[in-house]
Amino acid sequence: MYLTKLPRDYNEPYYPQTYFKNYNPAPLRVVHLDLKGAPPKMSYLKEILPIISASGGNALLIEYEDMFPYEGLIRNVSAVKAYSRNQINEFLSLCDYYGIEVIPLVQTFGHMEFVLKLQEFQHLRELNDNPQEICPSNSDSLKIISEMLSQVLALHKKIKRIHIGCDEVFNLNVCANCMKLNTNSRDVFLDHIKTISRGIKSTHPKITVLIWDDMLRSWPASYIDSTNLNKYVEPVIWIYGTEIKKLIPLSYWYWYFKHFQNIWIAGAFKGATNEMAILPNVSLHFENQKSWLKFISKHVKPQNTVVGYVLTGWSRYDHFASLCELLPTAIPSLILNLLFISSTFKQQEDVMLSYNEILKCNLKNSFHDIIQLKNTEYCSFPGQELIPLMLKLINYRSEIKILFERLYETNSWMTSFHLKRFYINPIKLKLLFSKNQFYKILKNFSQFSSEIELKLKKYYDKETIEEWFQEHVEFYLNKLEFLRESFEKSLYRNTWQHKKI
Ligand SMILES: [Zn+2]
Repeated sequence: MYLTKLPRDYNEPYYPQTYFKNYNPAPLRVVHLDLKGAPPKMSYLKEILPIISASGGNALLIEYEDMFPYEGLIRNVSAVKAYSRNQINEFLSLCDYYGIEVIPLVQTFGHMEFVLKLQEFQHLRELNDNPQEICPSNSDSLKIISEMLSQVLALHKKIKRIHIGCDEVFNLNVCANCMKLNTNSRDVFLDHIKTISRGIKSTHPKITVLIWDDMLRSWPASYIDSTNLNKYVEPVIWIYGTEIKKLIPLSYWYWYFKHFQNIWIAGAFKGATNEMAILPNVSLHFENQKSWLKFISKHVKPQNTVVGYVLTGWSRYDHFASLCELLPTAIPSLILNLLFISSTFKQQEDVMLSYNEILKCNLKNSFHDIIQLKNTEYCSFPGQELIPLMLKLINYRSEIKILFERLYETNSWMTSFHLKRFYINPIKLKLLFSKNQFYKILKNFSQFSSEIELKLKKYYDKETIEEWFQEHVEFYLNKLEFLRESFEKSLYRNTWQHKKI
């Protein structure tokens, strides 16, 4: 999932003019909304539709996870804060208004933690102690999956495509039921996909079914052509780094192109560099799209069509992981990458012009400012105010790390030994704490924490703010609190017993 290191110096022009001369944008430029973490308030999602549309985005891949309002026997799958049916209907109408096609994504194999974590569905796990994969051999599994799919399909009446996930099915063909079938994991995987696709097409024959491609990569390349998969699904081939041919060798591409006439590709605009990132690494994501464009220009055969180019924006790496970059902070990355993949070859100045216009920016050194997320205060787009705050948070966190190291980890007068015995000479600490401006940092960071919490309220509900805060801010507040408490305790003593009492 990680991007690789930047391959070149960013003082170079942002792309040489000859790189992508044969690039034609895919008919669908798709923005992935990963709602399994930090689902924004619906008001915010509505607010970003016009800028997505203006930047060339004409489809959304909505990964609802537990934010879909399931009903009946599976109502417990939905989070308490799930969107309502009315909210989704209104959003879909607005997408329609902006000419944005909606492709819902429902996980049906791996990454089903949001279902399988629940006690009532525990018996459907492939491995009892791992809530990630559903067992395809259990008939109840198919009942749950088809119930989820029919409820999602019923609410999305106009859709032409649905994505059924199927990435990272790490535990396959390992439970007693599956192994009884005496088959191999490839066939188990294929059978499950075909069953689900058949189920969807039995009621919605015109709907195209999409899957992530990564499970196919572990097979012998030529095997793909013997699977008949092209009759059931179209693959979304995802790579978030720059080494496309290294991750998927050309021999695989040969069979992908031979077997599937229509393919989809996916890069990332956020959520693929670090599980706990606060801000997206815009330059890495931009490099990722550049690599894709170069690859498409050179290798896609005339008989194949890249139907859609998905820009994924992961909110967390799986249901149990922490939150990574918040969507509002990734708008510059999203728009830059979207403009880039949506246009035939253009000069850097043209893309920058559109960027400045759409995000209402007045940037002097546009490209460098964008990739470093600098000077966003000269822009005006939904969520802009969070970026300077996140940059400030990153600075505070480094400052606190250094402070903690100086005042505790490498402080010869306040080690764990000293603290346990109150064997501290306060004079030494007073000097050190004052020299490092401890109380000033404590006051500023506490005020800043409250400010950031307040600002997030416009975009997120209480539960999301609490989670993000505890994962990314509280740890540093706790460090400061530990230092304060240790220091203040030490002030009350000026006589001591023998050391070893
Ligand atoms: Zn099984």
